[in-house]
Amino acid sequence: MDDCIFCKIAAGRLGSLVFEDDELAAFKDISPAGPVHVLIVPKEHIPGIKEVEGDAGIIGRMAARAVGIAREMGIFDTGFRLVVNSGPDGGQSVEHLHMHLLGGRPFGWPPG
Ligand code: AMP
Repeated sequence: MDDCIFCKIAAGRLGSLVFEDDELAAFKDISPAGPVHVLIVPKEHIPGIKEVEGDAGIIGRMAARAVGIAREMGIFDTGFRLVVNSGPDGGQSVEHLHMHLLGGRPFGWPPG
């Protein structure tokens, strides 16, 4: 989608990627909430997790890729958090499906 920032990043038109294949891209969050904060996104424009019913497997593939990136970034053993926000109460601010990979420090629970 032309006016979607994550579409542009995923297409390699803005900033650098830490991972990409035919389906997915990953890049560092511009406002990191921890020493490691990577966003995993589909290259195809999907607005959010509510719109994946036709291919729920994409969430699993994003999670598997996030675990691989966690391993590459040295946080596999210490632990990490995967987050998908949805809608206003969930705190979703970008309308392109994305999974947060957060690590490198302890995170509290429940989230704020
Ligand atoms: P969410 O609030 O779950 O929608 O997460 C959106 C995330 O995208 C936030 O953590 C932002 O810091 C991040 N973000 C917004 N714009 C950019 C950008 N241009 N490059 C990288 N990360 C971004």
